Amino acid sequence: MAELLLMRRFEIPDSHTLRVYRETGGYQGLAKAFGMTPVAILDAVKRSNLRGLGGAGFPTAVKWGFLPKDSPKPRYLVVNADEGEPGTFKDRYLLERDPHALIEGMTIAAYAIGSHLSFVYIRGEYIKPFRIFSAAVHEAYEAGLLGKGILGSGFDLEVIIHRGAGAYICGEETGLISSLEGKKGWPKLKPPFPAVRGAFDCPTIVNNVETLCHLPHIITLGGQWFAALGTKTQGGTRMYSVSGHVVRPGVYELPVTATLRELIENHAGGMPRGRRLKAVVPGGSSAQILTADEIDVTMDVDGLRDAGTMAGSAGVIVMDESTCIPEALWVLARFYAHESCGQCTPCRESTGWVEKILARILSGKGRPEDPDNLLDIARRGAGTTICAFYDGAVNPYLSYVEKFRSEFDYHIHHGECDVQPGRVVTGLGTR
Ligand code: SF4
Repeated sequence: MAELLLMRRFEIPDSHTLRVYRETGGYQGLAKAFGMTPVAILDAVKRSNLRGLGGAGFPTAVKWGFLPKDSPKPRYLVVNADEGEPGTFKDRYLLERDPHALIEGMTIAAYAIGSHLSFVYIRGEYIKPFRIFSAAVHEAYEAGLLGKGILGSGFDLEVIIHRGAGAYICGEETGLISSLEGKKGWPKLKPPFPAVRGAFDCPTIVNNVETLCHLPHIITLGGQWFAALGTKTQGGTRMYSVSGHVVRPGVYELPVTATLRELIENHAGGMPRGRRLKAVVPGGSSAQILTADEIDVTMDVDGLRDAGTMAGSAGVIVMDESTCIPEALWVLARFYAHESCGQCTPCRESTGWVEKILARILSGKGRPEDPDNLLDIARRGAGTTICAFYDGAVNPYLSYVEKFRSEFDYHIHHGECDVQPGRVVTGLGTR
């Protein structure tokens, strides 16, 4: 197994404390960063090929480079800790088990982009992570690692922790910024991008927790060293959340060159009870589903894109042969119908229609035209909305029906499930 970067302290007792963090090399990256110029840090991040690990996979250095050079306004760093993508729980582990890694990473980022105020937006349901991270921030202030003149460098950084209220859409960066500003968590049309006009109309960089936690390693060990762990276009390791039908569900850190098969079979222990693999969602619920014979693919952004899906948030959901795919899609459809913010007609209406059609199919009252209607609805709305939420919903709508069409047809023509014979799901209701 490759050397762990992000998870190397996870099994150490009291890994969340400043004492353990410092005893294991913590804050050395920040001390080194203060001896570098912001341009040199940007250059190291550029050479590292670090990409955003929250979902979009955008190159981090390129994003920082979008900040306007001549704006008189303050710049803000916003940490996106609103981890809400179904199947994804890696940032929770980082917040709970290594919160100082995030504080160190965000301070390096703030220094590099010239920000003196950082907001950390934490998912509302993450109560324990919020408490542990807040205590770590308090420790850092007490130790002179946040606030005025950090480590005697003359650089100041204040941190404000903001808790979300449970809306998935606040993980989208413009929705998050709206929520941070005290408004409804509604996404905004881009451009302008947050780097130009973000929080409180000021230039803002929004980075994910895991992305920022990589910065101390990049500064300490060098951008080229980090890049060499990955592919030509994505450096380093990342954390994969594995859930569903595997022997050992959990979080695994692997180089991005690892394959989906290695993750599932070697690390997560394969299928329980000798069952066969049926399907895998490789990048959180918004990724296109893969069949069992499509998992010999590397899990970097480009590798999964070339396989017709996406790396997304690296939430890997594994389904064995006992899974009813129409029901699995209904679970997702219900989620998307509930979480649509409602601003765009295609998203607001289509997510509800899809949920209702799937409920009808599962109840044994499906119509022969239903699968084609699902595909038609999905294809018409994609690319027409304010944010990527609806495109993310369309990915499962299309891929589940296209790859497992026979299961939908069986439900419709026999009024029951072929995977679990005799099973009819009624009373699903719709909101
Ligand atoms: Fe809201 Fe959906 Fe439009 Fe995004 S695509 S802004 S979630 S209605």
